[in-house]
Amino acid sequence: MGLIKCKVHGESGVVPFVSKRLSDKIAISGIHSFKDFTVLEVIFYDGDDIFCNDKYYLLNDEVPSEIIKNKPILIHNDEDEVNLNTLVGRSFLGGGCCIKCFNNFMKSLTYSK
Ligand SMILES: [Zn+2]
Repeated sequence: MGLIKCKVHGESGVVPFVSKRLSDKIAISGIHSFKDFTVLEVIFYDGDDIFCNDKYYLLNDEVPSEIIKNKPILIHNDEDEVNLNTLVGRSFLGGGCCIKCFNNFMKSLTYSK
């Protein structure tokens, strides 16, 4: 896990797959509901076995129409990974979020609008 310099918490762990725009909104407490963003589950396979499992956090309008929400994205090979990067990779440039800020953010959320 990498480190990030947080204005609130100083040097801290980083949640890597938080889009730049979502991260900016978290920093100004601009998101209050689970409805305001999308969590994509990405499952990486090594052969038939699950190798690892990540969650990608994006604003709703950053999720391309090719991606079906609420369905995990399955990565079986390099081509799948390249396709995913082509679809959403740009959103994560400059993104990532301090893990403490992110935990506070998740605790602050409601399920209603
Ligand atoms: Zn922080």
